[in-house]
Amino acid sequence: MKIDLSGKVAVVTGGSRGIGHSIAQALARVGSRVAVLARDVTKAREAAASLGDGQGAQGYECDVSDARQVETTVAAVEKDFGRIDVVVNNAGTTRDNLLFRIAEEDWDTVLNTNLKGAFLVTKHAARGMIKRRWGRIINITSVVGISGNKGQANYTASKAGLIGFTKSVSKELASRNVLVNAVAPGFIDTELTRKITPAARETLIRAIPLARLGEGADVAAAVVFLASEFASYITGQVLVVDGGMVL
Ligand code: NDP
Repeated sequence: MKIDLSGKVAVVTGGSRGIGHSIAQALARVGSRVAVLARDVTKAREAAASLGDGQGAQGYECDVSDARQVETTVAAVEKDFGRIDVVVNNAGTTRDNLLFRIAEEDWDTVLNTNLKGAFLVTKHAARGMIKRRWGRIINITSVVGISGNKGQANYTASKAGLIGFTKSVSKELASRNVLVNAVAPGFIDTELTRKITPAARETLIRAIPLARLGEGADVAAAVVFLASEFASYITGQVLVVDGGMVL
């Protein structure tokens, strides 16, 4: 069993760092050409260049919450690479606070990035997949989108929304052999989670049966599997990658 995605073109939103960068690396390693999208184009290009091996990765500036930018970026990727076969909706952000302290702007930023962003990229990139009768859309949600979490009403709403979106779109696109799944990471060691105190970190680790934080590579492995031929009878599912934290 060897995964081979050579000949495929993958778009990874938020691929410039953290989990997205690990996903871009893992997809490139199995032969996929990768388009890395982020708001900071310098970082997106650097991340693409670091994938190496002549896979022809490229970085693009794209704020996924901006409909016009998404439309033009998807068109640019299709022009540059000739097609898009795999989309990983990974771009995400947090503005954590308790309910009464969440500003409307912070609600909108989180929902627009995490949920609307996935909708916009999927809508534009899926057209070509439907025409070619092959596609994989993988949405990066979170275990807290299943369990809920104090201080994250905006974030958990966006991630729960992404699960509903995944299931609905999987039903719409199944007849065209476009498979839509979600990956729900637990606590992964990235910039997004490095803000917490060492004491809170220790408490979290104690709640994880596998007794360690996850790494980007743990999430990337699940994404590569779902993008591969080995997952060709799986759609509308949420694959939890959390060391057993939420059961
Ligand atoms: P990071 O903050 O490390 O990276 C976020 C990435 O998203 C960056 O590349 C960033 O680039 C990009 N990004 C942010 N906003 C936008 C935007 N509006 N448009 C385009 N790109 C954007 O996050 P993680 O790697 O930790 O998280 C990645 C995903 O995994 C997120 O969806 C997150 O919710 C999810 N997740 C993370 C967990 C964790 O423990 N870390 C747990 C569960 C889920 P730039 O700023 O240049 O745009």
